[in-house]
Amino acid sequence: VRDADPVNILIVDDHPENLVALEALLAEPGYHLIKAGSGREALGHLLQHEFAVILLDAQMPVMDGFELASLIRSRESSRKVPIIFVTAFDTEQRYIYQGYDAGAVDYLTKPIDTHILRSKVAVFVELFRNERKEQRARMERLELESLRRYRNLADAIPHMVWKSHPDGTLNYCNQVWMDYTRLRPGSSAWGELVHPEDLKGFLDAWSSARGPEPREFEHVARLRKSGDGFYRWHLLKVVPELEDDRLTAWLGTNTDIHDRKQAEEALNQKANELARSNEELEQFAYVASHDLQEPLRMMASYAQLLERRYKGRLDESGDKFIGYVVDGATRMQALINDLLTYSRAGKGKLELDRCEIEQVLAKVLETDLKDSISQSGARITHDPLPVLRANSVKIGQLLQNLIANAIKFARDEPPRIHVSARLEGREWVFSVSDNGIGIDPQYYRRIFVIFQRLHTRQQYPGTGMGLAICKKIVERHQGRIWVESKPGKGSTFHFTIPDASGRLKLVPQEPKRSDAYARTGS
Ligand code: ADP
Repeated sequence: VRDADPVNILIVDDHPENLVALEALLAEPGYHLIKAGSGREALGHLLQHEFAVILLDAQMPVMDGFELASLIRSRESSRKVPIIFVTAFDTEQRYIYQGYDAGAVDYLTKPIDTHILRSKVAVFVELFRNERKEQRARMERLELESLRRYRNLADAIPHMVWKSHPDGTLNYCNQVWMDYTRLRPGSSAWGELVHPEDLKGFLDAWSSARGPEPREFEHVARLRKSGDGFYRWHLLKVVPELEDDRLTAWLGTNTDIHDRKQAEEALNQKANELARSNEELEQFAYVASHDLQEPLRMMASYAQLLERRYKGRLDESGDKFIGYVVDGATRMQALINDLLTYSRAGKGKLELDRCEIEQVLAKVLETDLKDSISQSGARITHDPLPVLRANSVKIGQLLQNLIANAIKFARDEPPRIHVSARLEGREWVFSVSDNGIGIDPQYYRRIFVIFQRLHTRQQYPGTGMGLAICKKIVERHQGRIWVESKPGKGSTFHFTIPDASGRLKLVPQEPKRSDAYARTGS
């Protein structure tokens, strides 16, 4: 509505001739007169138009002027419209007050003084116009202010911010956009900005987002920098703006992810290279340890033969030297065997089978560890253990290594070892705890690295490969292994195995001690 537009005036009277008379009286180019023959009709007009003033006949059938006036006052949208009562009859004071109570601004009785009526209407029209003008000015100020804030905000964001018409023609861009692209509002040259190889993908993503129900979308594309012409990777996030479900604009942000993307690519490349070189190393370790076995076996057996046949026939140093050769060869065999086990643990496809941990443990205790258990007087207990999908042979090796260590690194009392398992989320956490010498926390990680030992051979025999093998076995099962310990009190090694098959699991009941595998030294 512009200032010069005519303003609406509502005249309500049940006598058509009165309406015509008022119309004639108020005929002016600046006024748009709307006539109503009843209260109902008047209310209908009030719903559709805004009025500067209402001229109301007090005496009407069905709904009289006072009733209509209070209805008009009770509605939020028409509450403030001034009402002038016009009537020929109700000149008594009582009626005049009733009119004021109903919210009339003025009260005119017939015969109407034309001049007074016109000037009163003119005053209200003037008021209405001023009010409208002020309101518009306020709105404009508010709009400008919010636009200014929006632009400031958009310029403060270190990303490109833009807005386009539904067809993709830009109508707003922030400073970052301008600096980067040099494309101005009004342009739709996406082809100049997006890398030729990424353009089709981007436009396809955009047009499928446009559909009957426009939706937001994201796309990663290279965008051309206007200064140097180089392309940098960006994440484009585009959101539709809707008004009554109708697409009115697209609002977008482009975030520079070039460095991140390059770092990711470099990292991927490095990871691939590492995996390859790791594979090569493992292959090398496997071949080397495998091929070294044969000549070493020969050296060891001939050294042993030499020892047996010629002991006492050489002088004392000769016997000692042969002893060193035999010892060295035996140690080297142990090392190479462990190295071979280590590389085998990481080689080939991991075959999973139904692995009953209790049975696997029983077998290890009754065969491989039988002698060391009886020699050490170790007492080994366990909780109910689950049935999993895992590689039974490897899990056997794992338990064997952990329990062998628990026996080996004992204090001067007989080892007490306990094996337990609990389900945590989607994985089983196994624990092997002992009452041995314990480990200083600073070595918690180091002991899992190949050949890393905390003691000399004289203190405790070993190659330093056992835990590295354990780690490899656990990791091949997608699990983790770690240790907790109190030096001088004991250690607990924990490892996890994912609960790959819910069908096979056996939830441990009340953790009860089972002495099924307890051994005494005797
Ligand atoms: P090895 O047993 O041949 O020395 P491992 O790799 O099995 O090699 O263990 C590495 C080191 O971790 C051991 O030398 C020992 O110091 C420490 N360790 C392993 N298990 C235990 C344990 N149960 N208690 C105390 N120390 C342990």
